[in-house]
Amino acid sequence: MKILMTTLSVLALSIMAAAHVQAADAPIRILLVTGGCCHDYDFQTKAMQKALKDQGVAAEWKVVNEGGKGTQAEIPLYENPEWAYGYDVVIHNECFANTTDPTYIRKITGPHKAGVNAVVIHCAMHTYRAADIDDWRELLGVTSRHHEHQSEYPVKAVAKDHPIMKDFPADYKSAKDELYIIEKIWPNTEVLATSISEKTGKLNPVFWTNRYGKARVFGTTYGHSSATFDDPVFLRTLSRGIQWAAGDKRE
Ligand SMILES: [Zn+2]
Repeated sequence: MKILMTTLSVLALSIMAAAHVQAADAPIRILLVTGGCCHDYDFQTKAMQKALKDQGVAAEWKVVNEGGKGTQAEIPLYENPEWAYGYDVVIHNECFANTTDPTYIRKITGPHKAGVNAVVIHCAMHTYRAADIDDWRELLGVTSRHHEHQSEYPVKAVAKDHPIMKDFPADYKSAKDELYIIEKIWPNTEVLATSISEKTGKLNPVFWTNRYGKARVFGTTYGHSSATFDDPVFLRTLSRGIQWAAGDKRE
């Protein structure tokens, strides 16, 4: 009887281990919300998808590009309260600075606060910039309302041991891109890397992580130009950020 119990225990452990391996190898389920003003979102989407593939990261993508090319839109996606259901991570690469309705914004931040992980890229930081409420900015982990001119900015790793920043080159400069000025770093934010303003000499976070409620958030303010989405260091860092945000088991 004892032998039978032991055998059953071993069998149960093996099944659990197999299930764990399967979960770790399962594709990351990604919802990419993109669109709005000022950037080539089709190019950026393809570049991100290729970057994950090139690094051997399996992913299932759902891409939602709604709201046109202006600075103001309330997109149909968020009308469904279960818009984020079933995804490991939602990537926000949209650009709607002048959308301000608090009820609409909280339809987006609510699921994140409840635990939907997020990656926020470039103009997502200026999305809902004109809103009075801080919910979106708290999700981002930083507050930014303007950017400085395009240049090739040196990027210095601050959290060199963080899994996202592993092997980040010491002498790296961004592709020609805008420098977003960060006026506030929220309390749960860990800055991973900074760039210096050519105008003021002040350091601005350019890669970071944040915790928003139960959600893990990775952010970068770079991502304006197609050159950035052609840059292997940027794409590798972004890919790792997506993996990190998607969950512990993927680090
Ligand atoms: Zn831009």
